[in-house]
Amino acid sequence: MLETRYIFVIGGVLSGIGKGIVTSSIAKMFQKRNYKVTVVKIDPYINIDAGTMRPTEHGEVWVTDDGGEIDEDFGHYERFLDINLSKKNNITTGQIYFQVIKNERAGKYLGKTVQFIPHIPEETERRIKECAKGYDICIVEIGGTIGDYENIPFIFAAKSISLKNRSVFLLLSYFPKPPHLGEVKSKPTQHAIKELRQLGIHPDYIIARAEEEIDEIRKQKIAISSNIDSSRIISDPDIDTIYRIPLVFEKQDFCKKLCKNLDLEYRDVDWSEWEKLLESPKKQVNIAMICKYIDIGNSKLPDSYVSVNEALKNAGRYIGVNVNIDWIDAKDLKNLSKYDGILVPGGFGISGIEGKINAIKYARENNKPFLGLCLGMQLAVVEFARNVCKLESANSTEIDPDTKYPVVDILPEQKEIIKNSKYGATMRLGGQFVYIKSNTKAWNIYGKNKIKERFRHRYEINPDYTKILEEKGIIFSGYTKDKRIMQILELKNHKFFIAVQFHPEFTSRFENPNPLFLGFVKACCP
Ligand code: GLN
Repeated sequence: MLETRYIFVIGGVLSGIGKGIVTSSIAKMFQKRNYKVTVVKIDPYINIDAGTMRPTEHGEVWVTDDGGEIDEDFGHYERFLDINLSKKNNITTGQIYFQVIKNERAGKYLGKTVQFIPHIPEETERRIKECAKGYDICIVEIGGTIGDYENIPFIFAAKSISLKNRSVFLLLSYFPKPPHLGEVKSKPTQHAIKELRQLGIHPDYIIARAEEEIDEIRKQKIAISSNIDSSRIISDPDIDTIYRIPLVFEKQDFCKKLCKNLDLEYRDVDWSEWEKLLESPKKQVNIAMICKYIDIGNSKLPDSYVSVNEALKNAGRYIGVNVNIDWIDAKDLKNLSKYDGILVPGGFGISGIEGKINAIKYARENNKPFLGLCLGMQLAVVEFARNVCKLESANSTEIDPDTKYPVVDILPEQKEIIKNSKYGATMRLGGQFVYIKSNTKAWNIYGKNKIKERFRHRYEINPDYTKILEEKGIIFSGYTKDKRIMQILELKNHKFFIAVQFHPEFTSRFENPNPLFLGFVKACCP
């Protein structure tokens, strides 16, 4: 067993430049070389987790197998690495303060004054080390940007770890190219390096995020001004797909260099399988995703559904199909006939509900491949109840608490929670087993009778209505062991009409897409 090595990824100049992708790519390079790698992300917000944040505020909420509602970067880590990470690997300022205050009340500091430094960094370090136990390499992504007040304790924790363990510090920095100049500028990065040094860290590598590869002139500028050899400036240019970044790094011998710094044996690897998935497909399908979270402008929209987007595209890559997604505002449904398939993703609250129901009706009546996820399944039941079972104005009690036909109702254990306004981490969350009925479409797709998928919901198909729904043609092909909660539904005489109470996007990986997405994209192919 090796002593754990640490790689710290810190951001400079501005956020949102792909720290999660860089972290995932570096982790992948080591994993390919058979090193045991884990990833930790530290977020500087006071929320205990991302579960209470709206997707347009913080991007999509990622659900871990152990029931965490955490930062969407974990989606990238799990998709790249094809591993399950624990919710413990997402540390937030909120968790750290909460623990330190609890410790203080429990008298654990033995009469000492409890202070920002050292107690907050110490608790951060303790948590990082707990995650790193048993791994050869632990990559720590520090949220925010250098110079933010809020991530200072994390920098102290990183420094403290680096005094005791072999570590490398990476600064991912942005090199802008102002259109009126047409030239890549290195000055903001010089300032970011300065800022990091003021906190006592000299970056071992600069990862240069820019439109293009960084040329020798710019590298020399950094080398001279910041005393960092130009061989330690790694280009991270704009690229057709994020999954090509590990290959871009390989070309620059980045892993070889890191192995040297960390005193690790360098091993040759074969990327051909990975590269095969990056070839441009010849076929194309067009999918309409009926969405709600678009109220801050189109440019931000896809981020709210990032894992569904990735799951669709990766399933397509796997079978040689380019998946084109149109994100359609549920309040403004346009011509759906031009699409090869319709997907209704998860969501909360009443906005856009009737539009989603209309889209499902269209898919059902026109034999269009349809995939419903979580809320998408609940609304498929509402639509079927209204239009096939003739239970007029049937609804979910989340949308209409007084509906005459509550075909979707709150889970019994959730009633008390809502009454007491306990919203954080209280849904039915994380990996749960789904039992699949033999000889159904779901069974054909998964190829087995028992699967594990990830959940995040408060409402369920009301057990009082399953009989009438079944009589009229819905097949519940997946359920809990006790058959109380319906977890998959399908229609018999339809090309592909499947809806699930879980989120298959959370278990869909780049090299290993979820079977449901594979089945859906295949069904969409002409
Ligand atoms: N709002 C629904 C529920 O709580 C669906 C949740 C979801 O789509 N993730 O059950």
